[in-house]
Amino acid sequence: MSALMAVQRLGRIPAAFFLALSLVNSFVFSAVDRLGTWPAALPEGLLALDIVDKIQVDPNTTARFSTDFGGHSQAAPAAVLYPSSPDDIATLVRFAYSSSPSSFSIAAHGHGHSIRGQALVPGGVVVDMASLGRGRSDRINVSSDWYVDAGGEQLWIDVLRETLEHGLSPRSWTDYLYLTVGGTLSNAGISGQAFRHGPQISNVYELDVITGKGDTITCSREENSDLFYGVLGGLGQFGIITRARIALEPAPQRVRWLRLFYTDFSSFTGDQELLVSMTEKVFDYVEGQLLTEKDVGNSSFFSDNDTEKIKMLAAEYGGIYFVEGGVYYGPATASMVDRKLESLLKRLSFVPGFAFTKDVAYISFLNRVQEEETHSTAPEDVLHPWLNMFVPKSRIRDFEMGVFKGILKKNNPIGLVLIYPFNKNKWDDKMSAAIPDEEVFYTIGLLPSATVDDWKYLDSQNDEILRFCHQEGIDFKQYLPHYTTQTDWKNHFGLKWDAFVQLKRRYDPQALLSPGQRIFTSSP
Ligand code: FAD
Repeated sequence: MSALMAVQRLGRIPAAFFLALSLVNSFVFSAVDRLGTWPAALPEGLLALDIVDKIQVDPNTTARFSTDFGGHSQAAPAAVLYPSSPDDIATLVRFAYSSSPSSFSIAAHGHGHSIRGQALVPGGVVVDMASLGRGRSDRINVSSDWYVDAGGEQLWIDVLRETLEHGLSPRSWTDYLYLTVGGTLSNAGISGQAFRHGPQISNVYELDVITGKGDTITCSREENSDLFYGVLGGLGQFGIITRARIALEPAPQRVRWLRLFYTDFSSFTGDQELLVSMTEKVFDYVEGQLLTEKDVGNSSFFSDNDTEKIKMLAAEYGGIYFVEGGVYYGPATASMVDRKLESLLKRLSFVPGFAFTKDVAYISFLNRVQEEETHSTAPEDVLHPWLNMFVPKSRIRDFEMGVFKGILKKNNPIGLVLIYPFNKNKWDDKMSAAIPDEEVFYTIGLLPSATVDDWKYLDSQNDEILRFCHQEGIDFKQYLPHYTTQTDWKNHFGLKWDAFVQLKRRYDPQALLSPGQRIFTSSP
């Protein structure tokens, strides 16, 4: 290089540098103008990223992401990112990861249907997952190879509608469909089909995940399998799911929907256990509920006459149970439904005259909670101090005596109480979700609605139930778990804990992701 050229080049470098610096400055200042006061908790370097126009810090926006469906937890983020692509999320996480020691926490916000602040991120950045899919029709893609690729932000109701267009349907569901794919896969995703197909996490082939380092990784049972198994049931600790490949089956057209009543807990659970153990395919869906007299009448399933009849039964026994079943069928199998049901019902021990049926379209059945909700007059500001547990079959009778006939008895009405069994062999033990170590275990969902004043006693009732189980040595697991100490988390994950910590070190070493779960408060 000649001396003249070298001097020319040296002269150009400072000019380009100052031009770039002034561009960055003017970008930063215009972003500050738009955003208003920049939160002290966040590094100003964020303002120089090309996602800055998708970030909001104004109090009205952050307030909207400060609570959840539970309604009791409150914690405002410093900012909200409205991503228009997974790359926007990766940019944010990469920046946070590289900003150490002034990095900040990040949480994907699915539909905010957590109960205990699990999707909150005090002083950090919430990622509004919904905006990934806003105005786009390419985030749910059905393949003729019996799977659907769905964005992590997609609601299950939208996945259902899209797959039905192709005559197909996912196999495993949640009761309520206005939950996100990423949100339920971070827990397990359970409903009455899980006894046969396993939870939703057992029905996933592949995931795209943005890790806590900002890397985008595709994973499956064959590729990056540690991340795949870790993320499923992983409570958002290892990465943000931006795509899930979900197994499909041919969609049935209709569902024969049954409710069979019991006055005796052992007959109720005995029949449920029979139904989930049958190799012959009659029921495709099995759930169950406890009803007190005061809780009868909240469902549009029953006619007024039937409601009165059930109320009298509940009044006489103080609390009754019903098995809820669903038989799926289409034109080819319609003629067999009655015959199969008739012979099966003969083997069951429900109270004679207390079997009620309905026949509905498949989509109405799956969307039943939403359709019932429109009949509800519940105000929007009710709180939900819910408790969900998995209880081993061998201790379900002790649970009944201590909880249903003991602790809950004094607090009539008790709201919705779900009770139904799963087969452990339909769960994959390599996944993060924690379940009891028994071949059949029950899910118990205590799902009351509460006023602000009720919260305290319902919350302490939940504590009493958990204390009772500990005292009695019932080896339960919380579902949608809520713990505040790492010792409790360690006990929750049991033998899976060490692997969980290793995965955290590998994929989110600065513990940036989903701090609302309160598992890691510092780097693992
Ligand atoms: P959020 O509450 O927004 O997030 C939950 C957690 O997952 C947070 O830690 C969040 O950071 C993380 N997260 C969210 N999105 C992602 C993502 N894409 N990648 C990684 N992490 C993510 N559950 C069942 O299994 N079966 C049911 O039948 C059922 N019914 C319900 C009915 C109602 C009315 C409600 C309120 C909840 C119900 N749930 C049920 C619980 C539900 O599965 C959880 O609340 C779950 O968190 C899904 O909610 P969400 O999509 O709003 O996620």
